[in-house]
Amino acid sequence: MGPRLDHRSPLVYDTRELGRRPGTLKRLSRSVEAPADLGNEVIGVPEGAPVELDLRLEAVMDGVLVTGTARATVTGECVRCLEPLEQVLEADFQELFAYPDADARTTESGDDAEDEEDTLHIEDDLVDLEPVLRDAVVLALPLQPVCREDCPGLCSECGARLADDPDHHHDAVDMRWAALKELVGSDQDDEMDNEPRRDGGDEPQEK
Ligand SMILES: [Zn+2]
Ligand SMILES: [Zn+2]
Repeated sequence: MGPRLDHRSPLVYDTRELGRRPGTLKRLSRSVEAPADLGNEVIGVPEGAPVELDLRLEAVMDGVLVTGTARATVTGECVRCLEPLEQVLEADFQELFAYPDADARTTESGDDAEDEEDTLHIEDDLVDLEPVLRDAVVLALPLQPVCREDCPGLCSECGARLADDPDHHHDAVDMRWAALKELVGSDQDDEMDNEPRRDGGDEPQEK
């Protein structure tokens, strides 16, 4: 058993008024502040940013079934051009919170200890939606976020952002000439540099 749920947390909801009567339901909409770590390293909801929740809490035989939608703005970085990006994310979730004494009945169907560990429970008539919200948002995040679907990314030659400069290109022939000139140029530089360097190197030794 973890620490007791805090009924003042915006993601903790009281189920008492459902009265354990299957079929009884309660709908609510709420705007909450995003908890920390709502996302991954690439993209996520900044801590404290508003998350709009539409919730439906329904009493069923073994507990309370919570169905909901979360809407929030996620911020991150485009994987192609590395520019900051912002997207509206919508994540759906549904989770059963079992009554504390419902385990005896659940074990009849499957006595897996692992299954039981995954089961969320109602504690003191309260349900904590934070882990549910986190899982739903992380699942809904784009794996490869892009600033726009057709983001051309960065130039493989020089790293310029192609969206800023659509006509950007490097002439393959020019590149080869430039490379050749550089080679020739460095040879010449070496020859010209070598002589004075030899003289220059000797002089200090004689002094
Ligand atoms: Zn981009
Ligand atoms: Zn380039």
